[in-house]
Amino acid sequence: MDKGVKQMAFLTADKTYTLYGLTINEKILPTNMRPNRKLSNGTGKVEYVTIHNTDDINEAKGTNDAEQYARATFNGNMGGVTVHYYIDETACWHIVPDNEVAYHAADGYYGPGNNSTIAIEIVMDGSGKDYDIKAEDRGARLAAIKLYENDLGIDRLTTHNRWYSKKYCPLYILPHWTQFKNKVEKYLNELIAAENKTVEAKEYDLYRVQVGAFTIEDNAYGFAEELKRKGFDAFVVKCDDGYFRVQVGAFSIRKNAEAYVLSLKAAEFDAFIIGVDKEGKNILGDVDGDGKITAADARLALRASVGTEELTAEEFKRADMDGDGKITAADARTVLRKSVELE
Ligand SMILES: [Zn+2]
Repeated sequence: MDKGVKQMAFLTADKTYTLYGLTINEKILPTNMRPNRKLSNGTGKVEYVTIHNTDDINEAKGTNDAEQYARATFNGNMGGVTVHYYIDETACWHIVPDNEVAYHAADGYYGPGNNSTIAIEIVMDGSGKDYDIKAEDRGARLAAIKLYENDLGIDRLTTHNRWYSKKYCPLYILPHWTQFKNKVEKYLNELIAAENKTVEAKEYDLYRVQVGAFTIEDNAYGFAEELKRKGFDAFVVKCDDGYFRVQVGAFSIRKNAEAYVLSLKAAEFDAFIIGVDKEGKNILGDVDGDGKITAADARLALRASVGTEELTAEEFKRADMDGDGKITAADARTVLRKSVELE
């Protein structure tokens, strides 16, 4: 069967995910192939994002530069050099955990470059052709994301050259470093602006605490009675989706609702906060607002949770199931549960 043509074994990602619009393939090096210690004296704190350039290489059919560099690292062909990310015009590979040391800065095993920074290796050739510009642009996006995630300002974007002055790296970006830095700053500001928008969207007119949801009306009222006996002012809300929701309280300040959740939990009731609009309408879960809660709503919430979908303020309120002001995978799961009527 073997005709003598060896299939190249491309790396298979353990995880592929989209981070603020950037698709990342993750395959972490085994512990014996990476320094395997936390950044910044064991705390894992990222202090800087270090930019490198490495050269374009011939691409085997069906893959790309970033995968080839990542694979070379796995195959032990990088002479002990490790970086956190390889990124080119089409792909990005993540091979060392963000909070761990990689050996990329040539400033010694315990040098500040190696020990306190995330390394991004942008694969370029300096030709200024479309693919080259695209690789640089994607590298700038990734740098902005890593600064943002680690709560670092643009002053924490730096170069390999800073840690090891003998190496003129990033070779193709250093000649226009200020321009590159401005671009990263622009992307960073966009991320921060999006976050502020998220904070705005979490302001609800009213917060209620939900304790249960029933399809049978009598059960809902029975449960509300039980709550009342224990001193909680419970009421039943009949919702358009056919559910009778048992809720307590109505608070204009979220913190007060949180305190109420704690007393309910102390009395062994499972409670969570929901935000409602002026009409007191409980619209949670119907993310797209089409009147029913379906798997499409769950998908929308999931996409929002990983940053591939931007929700309107209204959609956001309907997707934020636990009312914590963020759309997370947990919210998406709750929507999904509702869509299959397990709740
Ligand atoms: Zn470098």
